Amino acid sequence: MIEPAARARQPPAIDWRRPVLALALGAASCAPALRPPVETGKRPPDLVEIVSLDPTIRLDVRYATANNFVGRPVYKEGRAFLQRPAAEALVRAHRALREKGYGVVVFDGYRPWRVTKLFWNVTPEDKHEFVADPRTGSRHNRGCAVDLSLYDLATGREVEMPSGYDEMTERAYPDYQGGTEEAREHRAVLRAAMEAEGFTVYASEWWHYDYKDWALYPVLDVPFSALVRTRRATP
Ligand SMILES: [Zn+2]
Repeated sequence: MIEPAARARQPPAIDWRRPVLALALGAASCAPALRPPVETGKRPPDLVEIVSLDPTIRLDVRYATANNFVGRPVYKEGRAFLQRPAAEALVRAHRALREKGYGVVVFDGYRPWRVTKLFWNVTPEDKHEFVADPRTGSRHNRGCAVDLSLYDLATGREVEMPSGYDEMTERAYPDYQGGTEEAREHRAVLRAAMEAEGFTVYASEWWHYDYKDWALYPVLDVPFSALVRTRRATP
């Protein structure tokens, strides 16, 4: 998802993303050069490819496709990484969900800082509350945020949730009470499993979870291609 800012609570009245994109792209070329924040005293990064820990975790990396709010791929590879403790916690949540008939499907994990900067540049200024400021970076940049949903083990299909991923409306709020009871139940099942493993849901997005140790890790700008490719283990 476009990385949320802490104050993002009010959805836009209209879908602002596509109509204004061209304008925003034009404005971006005038923006001053930004660099990742310089931080000290952080843990050494240990990004791990999520599926290397459990290949039954599914991936649906929208940012490696044109099916995202930018309208074109922003990742060259459909891969997902987290810092090792966060990845291991996610695996535990995924395995606990099995008993309820579900698995997790990951939309995004670690996100290189340059992609956060791109999101900032293509988003109009009056909507910047919905994206992370590259001057501070985001929890995705630290490898400690994951966007995800559930899939049904019996059908293999993603379950219904109260909103789609990447939907910037009140339906995305984790406390939204509309939609079907089944969708709200799916959301609650995901949340309980994630909270049991140290993740906190973001107040504006049912799919975005932050791992408790996010502040210990630095903002990173390492492309996926530079990260170790780990062969998928057999299930
Ligand atoms: Zn997110």
